[in-house]
Amino acid sequence: MTRRLGGGSLVIATHNAGKLKEISALLAPYGMTCVSAGSLGLPEPAETGTTFVQNALIKARAAAEASGLAALADDSGLSVQALDGRPGVYTADWAERQWFEGDPGRDWYMAMGKVEGLLQQIGPDTDRSAAFHCVLALAWPDGESVVYEGRCSGSLTWPPRGELGFGYDPVFVPDALAGSQTFAEIDPAQKHAISHRADAFAKLVADQFGRAQ
Ligand code: IMP
Repeated sequence: MTRRLGGGSLVIATHNAGKLKEISALLAPYGMTCVSAGSLGLPEPAETGTTFVQNALIKARAAAEASGLAALADDSGLSVQALDGRPGVYTADWAERQWFEGDPGRDWYMAMGKVEGLLQQIGPDTDRSAAFHCVLALAWPDGESVVYEGRCSGSLTWPPRGELGFGYDPVFVPDALAGSQTFAEIDPAQKHAISHRADAFAKLVADQFGRAQ
């Protein structure tokens, strides 16, 4: 049987305040008090894995070891079928404006354009299917861990549409919406009901806080 969190404190292995807020709200009903790795001054480990699972585990294990508490980390990104799963774990890196010295910001329009350029190079009838992935990893200080994988399948459209959401949302049309609107055109609550993150969290909640078998 999977090891379970028994309530109490959980380190969220992120330095992103938005992620901490979202995850804290999701876990509060189960008696978990979330604290971020950033607020504990924990270092951010290098994400050297080649899969979402490896990177989520690297972050969760580092936070659990350094804090002595159970820790939760997530890793997510977009995999495009015709690009052999790219950008995958490099989803955020494809938006880095490395060549503008002194500007460490991310340009999502550029990243979406890079994906589209590669698809157009392949040809006009290219398979445009893609999926967002989210892996949640839970780790305990003694080294035990468990992962939950969420997925949202869809296809890529061009040009980008919609002002809501973030990242690659304006080009991603989830299958659950019958191939019409992009993630950036729908209400955030509607996105949260069908997203890869919702899928992974539903699996975590069922396994960790559902009725024991
Ligand atoms: P990370 O998991 O924080 O490393 O983020 C990976 C990257 O995947 C993000 O920076 C986004 O570009 C992309 N991504 C993850 N989830 C979503 C989503 O729901 N919409 C759009 N982009 C996403």
